[in-house]
Amino acid sequence: MSYDFDLFVIGAGSGGIATARRAAQYGAKVGIVESDRLGGTCVNRGCVPKKLMVYASHFPAGFEESAGYGWTVGESSFDWLKMITAVNDEVTRLNGIYQRMLDTSEVKLYEGYGKFIDAHTIEIGDNLDSPYNAGNPRNGLSRKVTAEKILIAVGGKPVKPKNIKGIEHAITSREIFNVKEQPKRMVIIGGGYIGVEFACILNGLGTEVTVVIRGDKILRGFDEDIRDEIQTGMQNHGIKFVTGCNCDRMVIDKTDSGLKITVPTNDGKEETIVADAASLAATGRKPDLANLGLENTQVEVVKGAVAVDEYNKTAEDNIYAVGDCTDRINLTPVAINEGRAFADTHFGGQSRQMSYENVPSAVFTTPEAATVGLSEAEAKEKYGDAVKVYRSKFRPMYYTLPDKQEKTMMKLIVDTNTDKVVGAHMVGDGAAEIIQGVAVAVKMGATKANFDATVGIHPSSAEEFVTMR
Ligand code: FAD
Repeated sequence: MSYDFDLFVIGAGSGGIATARRAAQYGAKVGIVESDRLGGTCVNRGCVPKKLMVYASHFPAGFEESAGYGWTVGESSFDWLKMITAVNDEVTRLNGIYQRMLDTSEVKLYEGYGKFIDAHTIEIGDNLDSPYNAGNPRNGLSRKVTAEKILIAVGGKPVKPKNIKGIEHAITSREIFNVKEQPKRMVIIGGGYIGVEFACILNGLGTEVTVVIRGDKILRGFDEDIRDEIQTGMQNHGIKFVTGCNCDRMVIDKTDSGLKITVPTNDGKEETIVADAASLAATGRKPDLANLGLENTQVEVVKGAVAVDEYNKTAEDNIYAVGDCTDRINLTPVAINEGRAFADTHFGGQSRQMSYENVPSAVFTTPEAATVGLSEAEAKEKYGDAVKVYRSKFRPMYYTLPDKQEKTMMKLIVDTNTDKVVGAHMVGDGAAEIIQGVAVAVKMGATKANFDATVGIHPSSAEEFVTMR
């Protein structure tokens, strides 16, 4: 049987574009369909615009700290709309780059919403059920393409907790990049990495921020020291926390003075917070599988995500899936790596699986954090008493002249049976940049003795990683 394409990809985000280009480089005939702007979540409403806003949020502290170094900075002011416009302009520039990359790779792009008709056929049309596509209709035009292999790379979408009364008044991370006026008071519901990153961005830009969380600590799943250090740092920078929230009984009321948010806490008390029009529900994400027509295939969905094996194959022999829609590690470089492993295997004559061990990640809060390998708790569960923890907390040199009490925390976790460093964690300036290098060593199986034998770069914060005793 002959098909229109060797590979057809649904979703031109991080995973989809990387896969399509790699497969095309191997000579495959590739098509891709995208219902929104090219680049997916990361480029349009995730990593990229967020990181640009993180940079914007650091300037006020920088102006203040410069006084310690002899600078007098004139009166400064901040124009939110100018920042949002600049960020969106940059996103548009990147959309163009992705378009050119697809063109030069000779990947055929279809604009529209892809839906399975059967295991080898995709219908491309509108998704009129999606609120995100409503402003982007394609006049009901639809066409069909067939492919030998099909890759699902449709990513995820934010979910708002349905049981919070008035939740329709809250926005999600999807909308925050288009808010035209800076919220003066903001409530952020949720203590995951997206929620706390936005809390710090807005706080840095001068918004009064309250973070509402179910437990007593943010960033569940991270090393305890990281959780503590970031939360303390955020509090020191003026962010308020309401902990132990009985979030199912929260109520958001729209009033003349803004949103009135009533937060019942587990100790039977109640807090009332008044925020501006926007309140951010950063309460998780889930794979975006509605209206994909999976019922017309054998593809299995388990716990809301496309179920795949270690080669990204679904229960249908010719259909594969990568990225957030499989809900493994939901990060851009992971989606890219999964996609390239798939393309190398099916079109490059290799047999490649993505390795999920020692995937580094960062939290772009202020203070920033980054991590690779096991948390202390995970290491103790795995290696028991053989675990040795090296921890260091200090004030970086930069903060001495501005006389600020900002701290950096670094931590190495070692399995003394083998002397291997099984976890490295950092909270403080430059954490993501520093841990990326450390991650290479950890991935290679470096021992504590290897770290000790490495000469430090002086003066730097990073040198602490090779001098911890
Ligand atoms: P996406 O990039 O989401 O791409 C999926 C694409 O498929 C979308 O463009 C969508 O429009 C399209 N699509 C969906 N259904 C269809 C259909 N039926 N037909 C046609 N097209 C369809 N990761 C990091 O590594 N670092 C970060 O700092 C970071 N920050 C983030 C901040 C925020 C606020 C968010 C929300 C995410 C962040 N992430 C970050 C996560 C990262 O964005 C995702 O892990 C990554 O984008 C996943 O890539 P993907 O290819 O699986 O999906």
